[in-house]
Amino acid sequence: MSISRPDPSRLVACPTCDTLYRFEQPAPRQTAACTRCGTVIFAPRPGAISTVLALAIAALALMAIALDFPFLSMTANGLTAKASVIDAVKSFAVDDMAPLSLAIALLILLLPSLRLCLLIYVTLPLFFGLRPWPGARTAFRLNVDLRPWSMAEIFMVGVAVAMVKVADLATISFGPAFWAFAAVAILLAAKDAVTCERTIWHILRSA
Ligand SMILES: [Zn+2]
Repeated sequence: MSISRPDPSRLVACPTCDTLYRFEQPAPRQTAACTRCGTVIFAPRPGAISTVLALAIAALALMAIALDFPFLSMTANGLTAKASVIDAVKSFAVDDMAPLSLAIALLILLLPSLRLCLLIYVTLPLFFGLRPWPGARTAFRLNVDLRPWSMAEIFMVGVAVAMVKVADLATISFGPAFWAFAAVAILLAAKDAVTCERTIWHILRSA
């Protein structure tokens, strides 16, 4: 008598309680939840790839707009100062604060943009019904791994806190880049909410 070992690539673990299941792709609009703890493991949505792709392209375009236009202008005692996102990054680029400047550029601009480019690279061929492009799995893995380091949304929270602090000292007006960056933060959150990582992994593995 021989006991067959289950194919490890066909097993999925619940991200909360590690219960193992044999993988079966749920039908569109169905979700697969862990029977032990109730965590949703798969939630494929019809048309999700096109939604993710559209959100990623829109966020990348808005990010480009946010770079080029004024972000905030402050008026106090008859003097007006305008600042762009690049100015915010450059403002620390003096003496020993330069690493901070580099970190801000990386965390709020470069990594979020890189993640969007990687996601577009992964989802564009899938949207057209083509086979994934070379390195798509590595690109998607990198996109997932970089998520904790992508802080465009946190930058907006920081800006909001700073504005409350200086509101009594100066008159603040928002430039186009502010609204573009706020829209980027919303689109990034919407993209993460729509993306079912396991479904994309399944498509990439079975292609
Ligand atoms: Zn579970």
